[in-house]
Amino acid sequence: QDEHFKKVISHAKEYGYVFPSSEIYDGLSAVYDYGQNGVELKKNIRDYWWKAMVQMNDNIVGIDAAIFMHPTTWKASGHVDAFNDPLIDNKDSKKRYRADVLIEDYVAKIEAKIDKEVAKAEKRFGDAFDKEQFLATNPRVLGYKEKGGEIIKRMASSLEKEDLADVKALIEELGIADPETGSKNWTDVKQFNLMFGTKLGASADSAMDLYLRPETAQGIFANFTNVQKTGRMKIPFGIAQTGKAFRNEIVARQFIFRMREFEQMEMQFFIKPGTQKEWYEHWKEARLKWHLSLGLGEDNYRFHDHEKLAHYADAAADIEFKFPFGFKELEGIHSRTDFDLGSHEKFSGKKLQYFDPEENKSYVPYVLETSIGLDRMFLAVFSKALQEETLENDTTRTVLRIPAVLAPTKAAVLPLVKKDGLPEIARKIVGDLQWDFMVAYDEKDAVGRRYRRQDAVGTPFCITVDHQTKEDNTVTIRHRDTMEQKRVAINELGAIIKEEVDV
Ligand code: ATP
Repeated sequence: QDEHFKKVISHAKEYGYVFPSSEIYDGLSAVYDYGQNGVELKKNIRDYWWKAMVQMNDNIVGIDAAIFMHPTTWKASGHVDAFNDPLIDNKDSKKRYRADVLIEDYVAKIEAKIDKEVAKAEKRFGDAFDKEQFLATNPRVLGYKEKGGEIIKRMASSLEKEDLADVKALIEELGIADPETGSKNWTDVKQFNLMFGTKLGASADSAMDLYLRPETAQGIFANFTNVQKTGRMKIPFGIAQTGKAFRNEIVARQFIFRMREFEQMEMQFFIKPGTQKEWYEHWKEARLKWHLSLGLGEDNYRFHDHEKLAHYADAAADIEFKFPFGFKELEGIHSRTDFDLGSHEKFSGKKLQYFDPEENKSYVPYVLETSIGLDRMFLAVFSKALQEETLENDTTRTVLRIPAVLAPTKAAVLPLVKKDGLPEIARKIVGDLQWDFMVAYDEKDAVGRRYRRQDAVGTPFCITVDHQTKEDNTVTIRHRDTMEQKRVAINELGAIIKEEVDV
């Protein structure tokens, strides 16, 4: 697993997907830049999301709010007072950790034992093995589940009550050690606010303290009335937005999984109070379907229902994805009640209500939110796509099986040789196709090597121009995943690529 993750990081760099930020100055912790291919993959994921959320839903519209917002926004949203993570330092190693993550990782280790029990039993019982039954009745499995459950419950309730001494006590009772050094010499647990502060204005006394937004959602709430009135939106309706968010994460060591500057894709769906349960179920299902449509494998997703609810939520679930380092949150679906609009009403003194013509009355709508990290989605796609394959002749190839719809470059056009007029024909094909798709031209090295290069960068199609092309206007088209080649007419190419790329 670790090996694969290392490969993901080095492949992302080698093929122009992700670079460490400010690398010439030795980088900046948990900040990354996207390269020439990364920017395309990121854009394609964003577009794929936007299409599913905005384009395909008559009642969802988009906005692009500013990153800077009036500072009272973050009082009203609860971020000034409650956007904290519990921090703990190890006195010996001087390393800093999130106390809740240390505990969650401990529980994950207990739960990993369940998988081992299942594997053992599967071996013993063979075809007669009934997994559901085993999970529901095996005393050891039940013991692990109960122990994990109790630990998480205690942690959640201590955090809820702000009883940080008990969070520390729990870490000590469980004997949790510094994962890097094994030391158990912990400091007290403290709350640490994740927002980045900055100043607006030049002169010292008139300058205003601002925050870089830690989520895009508040720009949507602040514009609720603007969009509802100007768009004549009727409840239920949604507002979607993609954009940068900033969090001063305590620990950020997992490549682009947890960054200090990242991009979110969020949608706030405004509904009639009392209908939140059904919309919660609706959006859980709709969002899972969106993920599955990419074909990365059903087994890589699972729901995690929250026990520990944020200050604004009455129900919350994560869609977790099997990253190279295990199942982790990829997207959150939150039933936020009227917390946000209600609180902005109080702090701003402006009415943030909706007049419901059917009910003939005004109310503060409830909100259902879907929130996904674009960079995290990028990592999900990229880490699953990267595969090492053994071929029939016992050679290996590295292939990046990015779903065609998301691939940075859809096709590469390759003249078999650099003479006899073949480059000119290939350039003409590029010129025609690039109106509709990102296409590349490559004439360097033997064609076999060029195929491997395109496999490694994730290009779904290679189009090769050879001498026969001059006679009958046909080319070969090679498919990245199957490596099959077919002879087709040049004027069919657009339709063939479109068929694969469209969803
Ligand atoms: P976590 O528990 O991993 O810190 P969260 O529950 O705080 O995440 P939310 O506030 O619900 O996350 O944010 C919504 C989504 O934004 C997450 O599901 C994740 O995909 C993304 N996200 C949050 N924090 C980061 C980060 N530091 N780097 C990259 N993506 C992030």
